[in-house]
Amino acid sequence: MVAFNRTESQRKGSEAVYDKVIPAGDGWMYELKPNQVLRIVDLEGNQAVDTLFFDAANPQDHYSAMATITAQANIFLTTGSVLRAESGKPLLTIVADTCGRHDTLGGACSAQSNTVRYDRDIQYMHNCRDTFMLQMANYNAGYEKRDLAPNINFFMNVPVTPEGGLEFADGVSAPGYYVEMQAKCRVTVLISNCPQLNNPCNAYNPTPIRLLIWDK
Ligand SMILES: [Zn+2]
Repeated sequence: MVAFNRTESQRKGSEAVYDKVIPAGDGWMYELKPNQVLRIVDLEGNQAVDTLFFDAANPQDHYSAMATITAQANIFLTTGSVLRAESGKPLLTIVADTCGRHDTLGGACSAQSNTVRYDRDIQYMHNCRDTFMLQMANYNAGYEKRDLAPNINFFMNVPVTPEGGLEFADGVSAPGYYVEMQAKCRVTVLISNCPQLNNPCNAYNPTPIRLLIWDK
């Protein structure tokens, strides 16, 4: 078993300037101010939270798994990870993490991935790409399909085998685990609280998450 780097936060929930529960399968799009801290809480455990970030001042510069992985020379995200945009610009830094590991290789589920991985009959099941599209349409700030890029799956466990293979494994998270990240600039956050029912990323049981924001 790998030893995870689990770091707790000193921030108090009572001092948060924003506090919202996102139901299972729902989404959220929101702009963080510089230095604001976003905490995502896995309320019931083993939920996958598919997330993208954008430089709000230049939305075409979206989160880049490649830039992030290359700069930190590690494929997993945890405390200390700097989440970077395509240009290499730091968007956020993970400042606390009681789960200890998050995936940025597995991508978001979509009608296409559901069809290829599981069955043609489930092509129309609710998926993260649908949620991303709906959130962007409602946000009404010019974000569109072309702005979707390979994302982060907070709380999702995608171990890499010694041969370099990927597995979607049972979650390593538990009820109440959280991850906290601080914005380095104005950052637009796009979340799909994954509705997936066909793989163990959320224990076949999508559950709500809680989002808290502090000003620093
Ligand atoms: Zn999903």
